[in-house]
Amino acid sequence: MGELFDIAIIGGGPAGLEAALTGRIRNKSVALFEHLEFSRKLQKAHLIDNYLGLPQIKGAELMKQFAAHCLAHEPILIKEKVVTIFPGEGMFTILTPAGTYETKTVILATGVAATSLINGEKEFLGRGVAYCATCDGMFYRDKDVAVVSYSPEGEHEADFLSEICRSVTYLPQYKGDLSHMRPAIHILQAKPRAVKGAGPVDTLVTDQGDLSVHGVFILRQSDPVENVLPGLELANEVIKVNRDMSTNIPGVFAAGDCTGKPWQIAKAVGEGVVAVHTAISYLDNLNKQQ
Ligand SMILES: Cc1cc2nc3c(=O)[nH]c(=O)nc-3n(C[C@H](O)[C@H](O)[C@H](O)COP(=O)(O)OP(=O)(O)OC[C@H]3O[C@@H](n4cnc5c(N)ncnc54)[C@H](O)[C@@H]3O)c2cc1C
Repeated sequence: MGELFDIAIIGGGPAGLEAALTGRIRNKSVALFEHLEFSRKLQKAHLIDNYLGLPQIKGAELMKQFAAHCLAHEPILIKEKVVTIFPGEGMFTILTPAGTYETKTVILATGVAATSLINGEKEFLGRGVAYCATCDGMFYRDKDVAVVSYSPEGEHEADFLSEICRSVTYLPQYKGDLSHMRPAIHILQAKPRAVKGAGPVDTLVTDQGDLSVHGVFILRQSDPVENVLPGLELANEVIKVNRDMSTNIPGVFAAGDCTGKPWQIAKAVGEGVVAVHTAISYLDNLNKQQ
């Protein structure tokens, strides 16, 4: 474990990048966690014509400008997926598959899971459902697992699991060339319908039939945020925030799509700046108490 950051920002979309930029301008130490490209979602937008001052711009170009502007102010960019956040005394511990980090405040800017949850996913989380092969793969040594992936990142996770599990069935929920995947991995073009089990997971139900498995790894751009930070209060499936973007957990703030509609860049950027200002006020109070 190294530096204790002032602010850790989870997600490098418009909300997270704006928060990181303002945090750095206010001279705070900022860790920015982004495990994929900066907002793959926005990069897919063909043409954006509702962001003030930048008419008719491609999503990929806008994200490039957002990222370059933010990174010029040198937040510490950590290209890892945040799997769990543990609250502690006046600080938080953040776990990724590759490391452990500490921070005084957290800003959640994870966007929303673009796909709905699989039936049974929530109930079986930690009892056969997992979101990170590197973190949880060892629990499935010599067992049968399925990997449901919504992006090509899942291919690496399946490769890793094929080294330790008895069998790996890969269910890609995207179009792509899979010919490079290891022959030991069984590829099944099927839609997951439900996770079931008497006790822990024993079955993944798909539209092509049932699979007998001990574990189901589900890999999306954004995981349900309440699983990353247990105890976080939601309202209608999104993070419940106050006007200053604080959440029910002191020291945790949220911004962007993860707090609800409208799902727009301008709203994400605006909330990012409010969240970071509130985080800075919280830090000032924390410092006064010490
Ligand atoms: C096709 C399309 C077209 C759109 N067009 C428009 C438009 O024209 N105008 C408009 O205003 N809006 C548009 N939007 C909506 C806009 O893209 C979103 O409102 C905006 O991107 C939200 O920003 P955000 O920062 O909240 O979340 P996101 O952009 O979703 O970014 C979240 C980031 O967090 C990262 N992340 C998630 N979980 C973790 C984790 N555990 N650890 C590390 N990183 C994590 C993700 O990889 C992602 O990069 C469009 C969306 C789509 C899909």
